[in-house]
Amino acid sequence: MKFLVLSDLHIRHTRGGSIKNNSRGIGAYYVTQKARELGIDATNIDYFLDWPYDLLIDSIRHFFGDEKECLIGYSGSIDASGTEYYRKLTQDLKKDLPQLKVMLGGFREPQGDSTWVDIMLIGRCTNILIDYLQGKDISEYQIFDNPPGYRNPLGVIVDDPVAPIIQKNDFWDSKELMTIETALGCKFNCTFCGYDYRNNKKPKLNNIETVIESMQTAYDIAGITNFFLADDTINEVDNKLELLGEAKRALTFEPDLMSFVRLDIMGAKPHQLDLMQECNLRGHFYGIESLNSNVTKTIKKGGKPERNFDTMRRVKKEFPEAFTYGNFVIGLTGDDKEDIWKHANTIVDEQLLTSAGATTLRLYSNLVNDEIKSELDKDPAKYGYTILDQRTIDWDNIGYQSDNWETDWTNRTDADLLMRDLDKFYAERLESLFTAHEFWSIKTLLPGLPTKDYNSSSMPLLARSQQKMMNKYIHNKSMFLKGK
Ligand code: SF4
Repeated sequence: MKFLVLSDLHIRHTRGGSIKNNSRGIGAYYVTQKARELGIDATNIDYFLDWPYDLLIDSIRHFFGDEKECLIGYSGSIDASGTEYYRKLTQDLKKDLPQLKVMLGGFREPQGDSTWVDIMLIGRCTNILIDYLQGKDISEYQIFDNPPGYRNPLGVIVDDPVAPIIQKNDFWDSKELMTIETALGCKFNCTFCGYDYRNNKKPKLNNIETVIESMQTAYDIAGITNFFLADDTINEVDNKLELLGEAKRALTFEPDLMSFVRLDIMGAKPHQLDLMQECNLRGHFYGIESLNSNVTKTIKKGGKPERNFDTMRRVKKEFPEAFTYGNFVIGLTGDDKEDIWKHANTIVDEQLLTSAGATTLRLYSNLVNDEIKSELDKDPAKYGYTILDQRTIDWDNIGYQSDNWETDWTNRTDADLLMRDLDKFYAERLESLFTAHEFWSIKTLLPGLPTKDYNSSSMPLLARSQQKMMNKYIHNKSMFLKGK
């Protein structure tokens, strides 16, 4: 069998302008790695929406050659935006490769018309894929027909955390940001969160040898030093940070790490700052949501505002090289406008964060997959929300659309206006206008500038760097697929 996994990357719409992504989907790499371990000839094509179409078709045909068992996997993103393109590509490929089988994976919900697909994998299910590749019976996982769709049981972590081992013929570049996971699962259950593996008392930790091998190989093969830790939170327990510290001590280079961090947990566990310094976790994305204690109790996240401010002050003083981004959710029950501005002024006056931004609360009542519903989605009335207008999810255009809602102090329309003002306020008055994810991505593309010099005017340079990196990849990978 020959197995090819295609993944595309979305454009990042930052507050400084749009830029193409430079961090590949590692789930796709894990899948081909596992297939190779079974003796299957498997490889990846990335950035595939950016390939010249004829070159893409030609390269794929060459790769499959005369093979009788050909499987192509599309690693989709969370929405359905690439689906039409996948369908056209499949139809064109099948003109010469009628035996081609198509697998669609990476989604959290079944997507639109899928009559052109042979098998669909929903959510995380590398274990099911491995069984499928070996011809084993996977019917126990089947959740729908036409095409057959499979998923793991809800709320159980069957899959492993991912730290891929890349190969030379994957053609990674030092201008790319690599993603790894230290663990799967989060032991908390914040009411607004739709993460599949939340409320899991025992996060499944990655193997230290795998993490070291993944990072060291990325450096040895491609000179990669910037890593994003995809864990939904890195510090709800200490052992993820300890694992990273141990990995860093074993590496022959200085990794530069970024992750989602819970600020309130740092306040409750002050020693975590040392652990973060030890492993070079210098990029922090804090989902603060609100600094109002009426809210933090209801969302089961937060701690007292003063303690959160003190933690920000301590990070600023003791870890000045850290890039800290705080995100706020507008529209949470119990919040109020005055309080939101008071806290924003404190952050700006003392420059307590490198960057901050806001999003409006979203509520979804029309999700097929119950597991990704937050507690608020499941029972909005219990948390003080009235749904004014339920939205249907239109997969053919773009995935999720929030319902219209109102709560004790605002509604979705007013919250949107406040969110825009607040977001602009932070963008104009803090050192950076990028989120921690965006910053890690752009500093990887264009290393060496002071934080404030990454701004709207650096966008053309960043775009050129990304284009150069991607063109090099497309050239090298197409030559490899064509056996040259
Ligand atoms: S918001 Fe973060 S900490 Fe809270 S349940 Fe979700 S992943 Fe866990």
